[in-house]
Amino acid sequence: MTPPELPPLRDVIARHGLSASKALGQNFLFDGQLLGRIAAIPGDLAEAEVLEVGPGPGGLTRALLAAGAKVVAIERDRRCMPPLAELAAAYPGKLEVIEGDALEIDAPVLFAGRPHIVANLPYNVGTALLVRWLSADWQPWWQSLTLMFQREVADRIVAAPGSDAYGRLSVLAQWRSTARIAMNVHRSAFTPPPKVMSAVVHIVPTDPPDGVRFAILERVTAAAFGQRRKMLRQSLKSVAGAIEALDTVGIDPSRRAETLSVAEFVAVARVLT
Ligand code: SAM
Repeated sequence: MTPPELPPLRDVIARHGLSASKALGQNFLFDGQLLGRIAAIPGDLAEAEVLEVGPGPGGLTRALLAAGAKVVAIERDRRCMPPLAELAAAYPGKLEVIEGDALEIDAPVLFAGRPHIVANLPYNVGTALLVRWLSADWQPWWQSLTLMFQREVADRIVAAPGSDAYGRLSVLAQWRSTARIAMNVHRSAFTPPPKVMSAVVHIVPTDPPDGVRFAILERVTAAAFGQRRKMLRQSLKSVAGAIEALDTVGIDPSRRAETLSVAEFVAVARVLT
């Protein structure tokens, strides 16, 4: 299907008086080519279900719709409803917009199948939602996550052991999914430009290791990385049975959290599960 003719996004924003709100973490993307590349990251979206969180005036939404997706979009800013309604009218039956806070909406019930999730969100909201999505029952209700983060957070999500960026978020993102940086995005691509660089992370679920509970892994990684400079025998003291679990799986308790592989964290959590 040929995408319908739409007015330039900057005109839409001017017409609806949509000045970017700092409080809502609004940094808009207008470059159609860049938005098309982001929308291509999940793969072929023809007739695919997509959850978009934080569509704003609808730049990324346009790219997802042009790729053939059926989009459900959750946006908190009431001012964005009129431009999103115009977009929904241009793509009959393809875009449903829900006004509300994505942190409070039960998203899985909005879909018949397993949607791809795509979002360009403020950093704190994005991280909270990521942890929630990663904690889902596995296979999760979503097919993939394509999420814009500030570069530093993206680095933490994909980090390997031994690096400063490696931490709780890396383990939670990697123990039963693959996580990669799909694209770097220069700060000048946004209006207004944020202070730091951004990157799009792509996460795809894999089979979970047997016999490990998310809550346990989360507790172990939170304790271990909460005192990341300390030896595990100190940092894991607060988790009942964890020091003994290190012994069971043959991990030297004088090691520090950042030296443990994801598989080693999983092995410890398995003993405690
Ligand atoms: N997707 C648009 C783009 O790429 O140009 C806008 C991105 S802007 C960085 C983030 C958007 O998320 C804003 O429109 C903001 O209002 C929305 N937002 C912020 N917090 C939200 C929340 N808790 N739930 C839903 N939307 C939220």
